[in-house]
Amino acid sequence: QKFIYNFQEGKTEMKALLGGKGANLAEMNKIGLPVPPGFTITTEACIRYLEMGEKLDENLQKSIFEYLEELEKENNKKFGDLKDPLLLSVRSGAVTSMPGMMDTILNLGLNDKSVKGLAKKASNPRFAYDSYRRLIQMFANVVLDIPGYEFDNLLEKKKEKNDYNNDTELNVDDLKEIIEEYKSLIKEREQIEFPQKPGEQLLMAVKAVFSSWNNPRARSYRNINDIPHDLGTAVTVQTMVFGNIGENSGTGVAFTRNPATGENKVFGEFLLNAQGEDVVAGIRTPKDINELEKFLPEVYTELMEITRILEKHYEDMQDIEFTIQEGNLYLLQTRTGKRTADAAVKIAVDMKDEGLIDKKTAILRVDPEDINQLLHPNFKEDELKKADLLAIGLAASPGAATGKIYFRSEDAVQAVTDGEDVILVRKETSPEDIEGMAKTNGVLTSRGGMTSHAAVVARGMGKCCVAGVGDIKVDEAAKKFYIDDRVFKEGDYISLNGSLGEVYAGIVETTDAHLSDNFKKLMQWSDQYRKLKIYTNADNQKDAVIALNFGAEGIGLCRTEHMFFDSSRINSVREMIVANTSKKRKKALDKLFPYQKDDFKELFKVMEAKDLTIRLLDPPLHEFLPQEESEIKSLADELSISIQELKTITEELAEVNPMLGHRGCRLGISYPEIYKMQVKAIISAALEVKAEKGYDVKADIMIPLIGTEKELAILREQTLELAEELIAKSDAELNYSIGTMIEIPRAALLADEIAKHADFFSFGTNDLTQMTYGFSRDDSGRFINHYLEQEIFKKDPFTVLDQSGVGKLLKMGVELGRKTKEDLKIGICGEHGGEPASIDFCHKIALDYVSCSPYRVPIARLAAAQSAI
Ligand code: PEP
Ligand code: MG
Repeated sequence: QKFIYNFQEGKTEMKALLGGKGANLAEMNKIGLPVPPGFTITTEACIRYLEMGEKLDENLQKSIFEYLEELEKENNKKFGDLKDPLLLSVRSGAVTSMPGMMDTILNLGLNDKSVKGLAKKASNPRFAYDSYRRLIQMFANVVLDIPGYEFDNLLEKKKEKNDYNNDTELNVDDLKEIIEEYKSLIKEREQIEFPQKPGEQLLMAVKAVFSSWNNPRARSYRNINDIPHDLGTAVTVQTMVFGNIGENSGTGVAFTRNPATGENKVFGEFLLNAQGEDVVAGIRTPKDINELEKFLPEVYTELMEITRILEKHYEDMQDIEFTIQEGNLYLLQTRTGKRTADAAVKIAVDMKDEGLIDKKTAILRVDPEDINQLLHPNFKEDELKKADLLAIGLAASPGAATGKIYFRSEDAVQAVTDGEDVILVRKETSPEDIEGMAKTNGVLTSRGGMTSHAAVVARGMGKCCVAGVGDIKVDEAAKKFYIDDRVFKEGDYISLNGSLGEVYAGIVETTDAHLSDNFKKLMQWSDQYRKLKIYTNADNQKDAVIALNFGAEGIGLCRTEHMFFDSSRINSVREMIVANTSKKRKKALDKLFPYQKDDFKELFKVMEAKDLTIRLLDPPLHEFLPQEESEIKSLADELSISIQELKTITEELAEVNPMLGHRGCRLGISYPEIYKMQVKAIISAALEVKAEKGYDVKADIMIPLIGTEKELAILREQTLELAEELIAKSDAELNYSIGTMIEIPRAALLADEIAKHADFFSFGTNDLTQMTYGFSRDDSGRFINHYLEQEIFKKDPFTVLDQSGVGKLLKMGVELGRKTKEDLKIGICGEHGGEPASIDFCHKIALDYVSCSPYRVPIARLAAAQSAI
């Protein structure tokens, strides 16, 4: 089996085997871009290595040295040569890029002797010793697991002692001293000498990179991003090029377009006389890429040209790493650039308009879940004017966030778990902070640039981030930060504007999002492809308007119980519930009727001729009764009954399993007058709005929790009779229908019978999930995490539809329902209706529509289009 490929042998399509980095280096080499020669050891070799208990077998070792020999020939230099050594980098490269998650070692091949040769050969001793001390530090960190900061501390001490500001001020003697100190540190910590044999360095480095696949931060990154743990990483071994030779050398990162806004302009940073991680590590503050033109104009022009070639070749925005060695530009990496949702939308639309990609590709380029970021609030303008602006840093990742500050990732995570709004404040973040970043509302750092770890990771997560706020002095140990003469301590509130890089003291109120023209365009394109209609779940005018603005085509679920909780009428609701005779109940319902009718009129007015699906009362009645002693007393007074009497009634209504109790259509069967009042309110409201406004309103009356044909037959008959009577009286026509929810497994199993009495079906997958699994949607929180941890569930089935189980019932429901009525309209209105994977399933089983909460409507539009493409 072939475990190694050089850059001539690889290509982009071999990503699974060579990792993103290895495959793209080979591809860039193929299209004639300047790439230092190298080879890649495959992910399969990594998996084997891990399976063999972290061992490199003989054959692989032999093969590595064979490829090394080839590389030596190509470079006309020998690895380990004492006069002119070939130096190598060893870098990890997984299939899916995991920025900063795994490890890199540069300058491999240097030792106490060859460093002298390099110094002489390059006529630049400083460069040689700087490279050597970097090798020792990276090797110790990656291979021997000694924390990097211990080395940084030694370096900082040296700088302090000599009163230097910059690393570049360290001279050869300083560096030689540092090298000795580094080596002593290794000896002290690991009882071994820093390996002097280049071959040994290489094998140890390869092993360490393979092993890094399983380090905790890589595992947690994969958990957060849903990346399987069994893919393994490739290792790329590449000829070193040096950005630290002098002022006509340097290193940098660039995005072919702006990853925060999507603007079609190269965006990036560089440092002269620097190597490898200096730019991303946030230790020195890098310069804007545009300034490169001033320093090295020819390199700048070449770089700009290369970004165009890369975009054209890959047909997507690229994120590249480059090194300039004495005026020559080299590419060390290219990958599809991570971007904010804003940028994703703009780049997709722009690239389509530029003719780089077609419309379908543009639609597929945006992750529906990412749209969430666009729909979320910004700060209120007038609140912002009054707000206490503390400092301005880099607008690293857009959005608005408010919360209490925490300085350690663990503390932040704990506070979030305790229900707090939290902002993580760090000097700079490292991969150890991933969980804290993922869970908090926003991230603030005092150091680092636009491509620092914090900025890159936050953008990927769609998390608000302000980075590099130099005016803020963070004292992580004391859990405080200082700005001018003010102190902010753990638990104090601040607010971040990630779109402008602003930091405010205290809480700043937020407002709804504004949608860009690009976004609207992408939505219109989506609408051209999708087959599913997108409805919304809304039970008041405000939500309905939000959903309509987001493109909802109807209301798929109006839950009437929410209307009952309004303080203006809750007492009439309670009076109705407490009533012990049908007459008393009717009297209370008469009081409720005008409220209900007005509620529905409001909705019919905004929906005009669109579908408005109203569900009759669903929850068990005791949910409406007061719990608090004072409320019980006041209700008793109002109803002129004793407190004791009210308590007795409440107790009688209480149920052991209310979710399986007296609810849904069972209420309609027991107390027909409740549903009659609601039907009367719906039909009257529809007739009135039709008469007043002239809209051709559509009323869809939906009966919940049907389990048997007879239930629906009875309730349909009762509804029909009343509706016809009202319509006849009004002397008008009305477009209305009577349908049912399918949310009890029995209803799905017998959907052919149920369909005889239904004009439409709507899958209530919240109840259907709970009843199929036999666990309560309200209590499952207690164990679901254990199930996720032990991988009994891949996803919480209340969030992502269980396609194999619950989905089977859906499929059956559709097939049986349409066997009885060929063109039966069928949709879904459980939470799953707004979740992309579940929407895809709904598309596949040929539902007519999905209904979801207003803020998920655009997500559903895009997801439905992607399913149809
Ligand atoms: C459902 O059960 O999926 C549903 C939409 O109804 P509710 O969530 O109100 O029970
Ligand atoms: Mg339900």
